[in-house]
Amino acid sequence: MSISDNLLKIKESIPEHVALVAVSKTMPASVVHEAYEAGHRLFGENKVQELSAKHPRLPSDIQWHFIGHLQTNKVKYIAPFVHMIESVDSLKLLIEINRQAAKSGRIINCLLQFHIAEEESKFGLNRKEAALMLGDPAMSELNSINIAGVMGMATFTDDMEHVRQEFRNLRNIFDWLKSTYFSDHAAFREISMGMSGDYPVAIEEGATIVRIGSLIFGERQYH
Ligand SMILES: *Cc1c(COP(=O)(O)O)cnc(C)c1O
Repeated sequence: MSISDNLLKIKESIPEHVALVAVSKTMPASVVHEAYEAGHRLFGENKVQELSAKHPRLPSDIQWHFIGHLQTNKVKYIAPFVHMIESVDSLKLLIEINRQAAKSGRIINCLLQFHIAEEESKFGLNRKEAALMLGDPAMSELNSINIAGVMGMATFTDDMEHVRQEFRNLRNIFDWLKSTYFSDHAAFREISMGMSGDYPVAIEEGATIVRIGSLIFGERQYH
């Protein structure tokens, strides 16, 4: 199966209102270009250095989503071009994204990442942290960001019932934030959840963005 066959097959299996982020981490620019040639424009990367290196080598109409843990001091490298940062997990980070976006004369779309998995290692906010962050007076001054929704990663397990409960939890968090903080903000509408192994369940539970790597590009090789 070629990359374009894989993309076609996945696109046939997801509803039209769900966006597909092709996660191209570890893949060389030439491989990303193959997906681009097949008509795909939305890609995801999880490392600043890798994204900064790939971005200038690829067409400028690609929309890049940053999906990895982001350190405040690295925001400046991606702020001039990144379309969405899906992994916002602190007010400090949000303030820096706003600052760098303003410098570039841009508005950067952001998702709030929530910790929904059992694994300790996965980053993200809990409800209490999110409430503190969104209730902070500093929020009202952030005019160069658009908070567009939430993102989460489920536990890495074959137990799809367990994964479904975690996705349902993220959906509930989204509904709570929407009604409490974003009821008059139409752009707050995205739920990014689901990867190669669990995206059909994520869509059943309300995902509007799925992030898929290995099903499109094949298994990743780490050196
Ligand atoms: C790598 C990654 C994905 C894609 O994983 P696959 O299992 O290859 O589909 C999705 N989201 C995040 C945050 C990732 O780091």
